[in-house]
Amino acid sequence: MGAEVSEWEVRGRVNAKSECVLTFSGHFAAQFPCVICNGPVHDQIRFFRNLILKTSESEADAYDQDALDDDTDVVCCAGAVNLRDWLEDEMLLACPMFSRHETCEHVAQSQPPEIRALQEDTAEEQALDVQRPFANLSDLLKARKK
Ligand SMILES: [Zn+2]
Repeated sequence: MGAEVSEWEVRGRVNAKSECVLTFSGHFAAQFPCVICNGPVHDQIRFFRNLILKTSESEADAYDQDALDDDTDVVCCAGAVNLRDWLEDEMLLACPMFSRHETCEHVAQSQPPEIRALQEDTAEEQALDVQRPFANLSDLLKARKK
């Protein structure tokens, strides 16, 4: 994965419950391989997360997770923290599990047959495409035997 961070911010504050909260936010441009054609998918990814800092593991574990919104986590943080690592973690978490083009441009060249078969609309046309690499392969094998 290639990524270029265009903007990020880490903020610290004390919330109404006297808890230390770190907020990571920003956005970055990243490139992922498409699950269909394996070509690069260019994406702009935003991330935003609040981390409530607790000084011990037991305190962090005892925290009422139901009281948290989707953007907030509780972490145990006994001493110094590496903000760069945390920021990297947040960026990785924000990345999609699977990337795909809205429409793949080079499907015929690089799409694996098993995934191709899942696309129903033009299944027949694609089935023809699937044959081609194997036809080539047998030509190559014949050529080698000579
Ligand atoms: Zn694609």
